[in-house]
Amino acid sequence: MSILATLADGLASGSVEVLDLTAPLSAETPVIQLPPQFAQTAPFELEELSRYDDRGPAWYWNNFRTGEHTGTHFDAPNHWVTGKDGDDVASVPASRLVAPAVVLDFAAQAADNPDFLLEVEHIREWEAVHGPLPEGGWLLYRTGWDARSSSQQEFLNADDTGPHTPGISPACARWLGEEAPVIGIGVETVGTDAGAAHSFDPPFPCHASLMGSGKYGLTQLQNLGQLPPTGALLIAGPLPIVHGSGAPSRVLALVERG
Ligand code: MN
Repeated sequence: MSILATLADGLASGSVEVLDLTAPLSAETPVIQLPPQFAQTAPFELEELSRYDDRGPAWYWNNFRTGEHTGTHFDAPNHWVTGKDGDDVASVPASRLVAPAVVLDFAAQAADNPDFLLEVEHIREWEAVHGPLPEGGWLLYRTGWDARSSSQQEFLNADDTGPHTPGISPACARWLGEEAPVIGIGVETVGTDAGAAHSFDPPFPCHASLMGSGKYGLTQLQNLGQLPPTGALLIAGPLPIVHGSGAPSRVLALVERG
């Protein structure tokens, strides 16, 4: 039997489960807030065109307005100045949008310390148990932050010193971009960088290193806690916005059960 026929059988029998890692997209979806001197991204907004009424008697439809980086979304290499000559989101090869994924769970550490930073040593310890990070695949970084995603305030977790959300250390970000075999990292927070990364050296090291290495980011993922540490297949579907720096994205995971 062909590989795809076997997969289709698994999907039909339930031995392969499809998990949705995508946050619902609405006006309530949390959005990043930059310091006031910078331009701000738009929250998601629906504008009703007609709803079975005079404006369109048999049909319902909307326009929408959103930032490229609103909700569960994909960061393309050209999002950061380090990757400005790299692919826009429409140029990311489709073959890279279906890839293996592993999950590193640091929800307990992030619960104790919202400024928790992933280090290379943490990844090495994980690899000693689960094997190497997947070549051409994703590192999904679980922090439990998806539980906060119904509240902008809890999600951004800001005080007068700025946002406090877990992320990745500058050294680990550099390693992930330049040395790790993965094509990108996925997170549950509003961006791939820590809330405090504005004051890191370099600032926003995860964006700087990943985009500069032609890699990708996936943010505001949900349900990572339902994934096994290894063995999932991730499907990321950003809108192919020509010249876009990223796009809202449906992200699914195929997981083998039983
Ligand atoms: Mn982004």
